[in-house]
Amino acid sequence: MPLIPVYGHATLRARFASAIERGALPGSLLLHGPAGVGKQRLALWLGQRLLCTGAGSRPCGECQNCRFALAGTHPDLHWIFPRPRPKDSDPSVADVEADYADAVAERMAASGLYAPPSGAEGIFVATVRAVVHAAALAPAVAHRKVFVIGDAERMVSQEGADQAANAFLKLLEEPPENTNIVLTTSEPGALLPTVRSRVIAVRVPRLTEAEMRAFLADPAVPPRLAALSLPAGADDLLRLADGAPGALLARSAMDDALARARRMLDAASGHDRAERLRAAFVQGTSGARGAFSDALNALTLLLHQQVRAALDRDDARAALGASRAADAVERAKESAQGNASPQLVTFTLLRELEAALR
Ligand SMILES: [Zn+2]
Repeated sequence: MPLIPVYGHATLRARFASAIERGALPGSLLLHGPAGVGKQRLALWLGQRLLCTGAGSRPCGECQNCRFALAGTHPDLHWIFPRPRPKDSDPSVADVEADYADAVAERMAASGLYAPPSGAEGIFVATVRAVVHAAALAPAVAHRKVFVIGDAERMVSQEGADQAANAFLKLLEEPPENTNIVLTTSEPGALLPTVRSRVIAVRVPRLTEAEMRAFLADPAVPPRLAALSLPAGADDLLRLADGAPGALLARSAMDDALARARRMLDAASGHDRAERLRAAFVQGTSGARGAFSDALNALTLLLHQQVRAALDRDDARAALGASRAADAVERAKESAQGNASPQLVTFTLLRELEAALR
């Protein structure tokens, strides 16, 4: 299966293309932005553009470099991302390369769509060593090499002055003339400071609604979502994804968000202040960054489903209540974007939900 096309990010792509044309593209880049907006896919696009022998602002899609890149088999376009800790404590470069060949093939079998790495996966020192090794070699078929390193904050910190880590930092600081390195992360604050200070950061935004709809209409996408038993309606999916298509592929995070949202609805309908407090406390204390806003998006989805169900049975009062509750969630999202604590936002929201759904 070829890589799914890039959706969105037209402005960034134009900027990258123009920088390449002027010979002004920095050798080491960091693409950062919300999880699931397509940073690794954009980095692979940039890699393809750099390797493509055609002219123009976008990769030609026809040359040998483009064909290899789109198939995920270009020997000079290295796609690195977190992997399970190697069984062998000290795997060779060849072992690491074989592992990545398998891992990339697995991603390619799903058109380059993949779920975020589990907490146990990382970019271990053997991988860093393999990158340094490959960077020192001449390109195999193209005139240059590109390394895309996804979820780069998972690079495991090295104790002491490890040679590979130092060599990697040197590589980032001054990549060879024919080498580009593109790191991606949704948590730039978690990057090793020694890495962060050596790259030029570029922010990757969320997709617009039209871009999201185009993504959802790609033939490669619906089968993946069906396998995760996500709701099939485009509007529901748009609410869940919130401009980050990859978020839909994060099944456990989605399940978690829906479970939290259901819990909030239960707490609101119980008319029990103690339960509301408990539910509010849970929102504030558990889960990774972004989990709270995921839960609010899931809540919007559930309330819109309630509105539709109420309209279907001609229950105008219930429909109005659910729609007011959905408005309250929108206000909560705004507060959550400021500095308000999730506990406080949730507690206020639950009171409003209770009043609206009474
Ligand atoms: Zn090409």
